[in-house]
Amino acid sequence: MSNYLNDRLRKWLSELSTSWNASIEQTALAVGDEEIANRMKKYPGVRAALTSSPFELQQFAGAVRACWVMAHQFDAIRFNRFVESGAAATAAIQQLIGSFPGDDEGAIRRINDFIASAGKLGIATPDDSPDRAGAALLASLILTSLYPKRFVDFRRDRWKRLASAFGYGLPPERATLGEWIVWAGKFASDVSGTDTYTQLWPSSMPQFAEPLWVIAGISWVGTSPASPKTDPIDPDLISFPEGAEKRWLHLIRERNQTLVAKAKAMRLQTDPDLRCEVCGFSFREKYGDLGRNFIEAHHKQPVAQLKRGSKSTINDIALVCPNCHRMLHHGDRTLSIEELRAKIQTATA
Ligand SMILES: [Zn+2]
Repeated sequence: MSNYLNDRLRKWLSELSTSWNASIEQTALAVGDEEIANRMKKYPGVRAALTSSPFELQQFAGAVRACWVMAHQFDAIRFNRFVESGAAATAAIQQLIGSFPGDDEGAIRRINDFIASAGKLGIATPDDSPDRAGAALLASLILTSLYPKRFVDFRRDRWKRLASAFGYGLPPERATLGEWIVWAGKFASDVSGTDTYTQLWPSSMPQFAEPLWVIAGISWVGTSPASPKTDPIDPDLISFPEGAEKRWLHLIRERNQTLVAKAKAMRLQTDPDLRCEVCGFSFREKYGDLGRNFIEAHHKQPVAQLKRGSKSTINDIALVCPNCHRMLHHGDRTLSIEELRAKIQTATA
């Protein structure tokens, strides 16, 4: 079973990477990245609100509203009505999570009870019939925030689609939403246990620290998402043609920001003018206070060639002016600092 799931996951990812014209590693890093990031950033806030004593409904509501899964207009409106029920909403939440059952049967009962009460507390359609899917989403958001190893945020169509793509068995036709939510958590756990998953989404990387949130983020963007948007500003990125590649570089660069800050801080100790390593230009010298501390960071080793797990060091970063930075990337291949310096000397000789 696990081998089968592993093969299907790899096949899906490999097809996606072909359509993105990116490597399988780059595709894994980029697929659903924003959805995953929102979960990593916002779900701990929901957990903090749920576990704070005394429980503050407004704190919980604020934390829930920050989660993208609740951003759909109707979900947001119905959630607001639920919150307006005040003490009744608090009681429903407490009944859902209080000494939460470790067994599946108990968990399913709790979830279905919550869906029934939330339907009476504003999570309902305009004609007042309960919005069971909306209540299930809220229940699953609460549970995945508290128990990220066991539950995922849940929309049936999204998890069904992902399970079908991976050839994973669905619950019986007449399953309750509680059963579906428990099933989705198991499906995501099984995916996270495959070799392909652990290789490509290592939980040692901060953005992948919670595997079930990663898989939920992927389920949210669907099985054939468009390649990520491009960010055309930085010359380190411009030299790579494919959107997915640019996106991946962008992620790497975000991780390198601390490194760049360190490189600048170190250089400032020996060179307060922060001169370009190629041409010697200093923004402070030219523009006074306005130019203080201004310089660009260039990765000497092309970021696209970094292997997974390899770490850049301060020595991999050159501090250069924007003109030289552009020139480093301008030719058929990226020049070294020394090569570009030599070209300046040739031109002025
Ligand atoms: Zn320069």
